[in-house]
Amino acid sequence: MTGADAPTWLAEGCPAWCAREHLEDDHPEDRYHHSEPSLVPAVAATADTVPVTASLESMTLVVWLGRHVGTPLVWVAIEPAERREPRLVLTEESARALHEHLGHQLALTEP
Ligand SMILES: [Zn+2]
Repeated sequence: MTGADAPTWLAEGCPAWCAREHLEDDHPEDRYHHSEPSLVPAVAATADTVPVTASLESMTLVVWLGRHVGTPLVWVAIEPAERREPRLVLTEESARALHEHLGHQLALTEP
């Protein structure tokens, strides 16, 4: 979040959704805005198994928004809380399309 003692490299305001504390000594690759993550309890398969459901396990999925400082591209990341992979990073537009298509697919299961 942008504050009175914002780092010198942060020449822009944070987007309204940014919950990250930006520090003067943040590594250049870590200079991005980050939303408060949503935690999603899930049962998911993360390995390439046969059948595909063989690797189902309980986990917490973390969903968050990011945007590099100085660029307009907003991304949505989905990753297990316990590890970094598999990580799915989508542009905002792609995430909205995924959201729509998840709705369509799940509607097929409704009686
Ligand atoms: Zn920020």
